[in-house]
Amino acid sequence: MRIVDLRSDTLTLPTAAMRAAMAAAEVGDDVFHEDPTVNALEEHAAGLAGKEAALFLPSGTMANLVACKLHTQPGDEVILERTSHLYRYEAGGFAAYAGVSVALIDGERGLVTPEQVDAAVRLADVHQPRSRLLWLEDTHNAGGGSCWPLDRLAAVVAAGRGHGLAVHLDGARVWNACIAQGFPLKAIADHVDTLSFCFSKGLGCPVGSVLIGDREFIAAARRVRKQLGGGMRQAGILAAAALHALDHHIARLADDHANARRLADGLDGLAGLRVRRPVETNIVLLDTSASLLGPMEVVGSLIGAGVRCLPINATTVRLVTHLDVSQPDVEHALAVARTALESPAR
Ligand SMILES: *Cc1c(COP(=O)(O)O)cnc(C)c1O
Repeated sequence: MRIVDLRSDTLTLPTAAMRAAMAAAEVGDDVFHEDPTVNALEEHAAGLAGKEAALFLPSGTMANLVACKLHTQPGDEVILERTSHLYRYEAGGFAAYAGVSVALIDGERGLVTPEQVDAAVRLADVHQPRSRLLWLEDTHNAGGGSCWPLDRLAAVVAAGRGHGLAVHLDGARVWNACIAQGFPLKAIADHVDTLSFCFSKGLGCPVGSVLIGDREFIAAARRVRKQLGGGMRQAGILAAAALHALDHHIARLADDHANARRLADGLDGLAGLRVRRPVETNIVLLDTSASLLGPMEVVGSLIGAGVRCLPINATTVRLVTHLDVSQPDVEHALAVARTALESPAR
């Protein structure tokens, strides 16, 4: 059976050209700072963001954890949206390792307002935790791949800074936002103190994320990464994949976005399912609340027909387009979905 795997953009396999770049990489011991390919990647990533320095890490989760740890003291509070990846999908690492609590804001597709940030900040009072860090996500995963418009980002950051908060951007898919909105990375990065992005999602690499900030912050991050066991040795093999992706897999994210729109248009209305609009990047959320089918039944029917996707809550199924999903794959997925979801046998 032909399989179209839309569970996540982490499923991409390295291309032949990427594997060739990895095989040819010049390497050294990166804990000694002697891997030339890692050094080149860190310099390049920092430059793209218009910041001083960057650090290559094994995962986005570790990049977030390091950022959270360095921006706070134990007992401080992080202000973030309720469905943020840090809060929902990182196994509580912020609490276990950084020792921070959270002030949760109910966002709209993951985006929050300056007024909500103002309201979440604690009083300077001995009874209350110290509000210390504003945490933003772009694109917002659980929000459906939503992008921060630059003016809204600027306004929310200004609100946070008005209260003396540091600002970190979890930009696991920030390149999708850059392509969808037509901005260079620097246009987004200029607003925040630190940001991270993943190579292992839409960019198609097997492993890796980067944390970006000023020189002092990144020097401290190198130590925290070591504490967490994230110091890697001949990591240039992985950094070579990342450099290859920055050169070859950014502009093509537009194809993933076009495929996501095709998928959304074709699925909307099938068996009473509704696409959550707008579909801005590579994530499609299907709302099952007006359907007789629940998320598990939708996913079960689609998997039976070779189309893999994920239930993400009691009323939502998520489908993600990526490097290994072509336009013909999307057309095929739609054809089998029509039969699987709407067959009279149901
Ligand atoms: C995937 C993801 C992460 C974590 O990245 P891993 O490399 O899977 O640890 C962090 N934030 C967001 C928004 C993500 O989508």
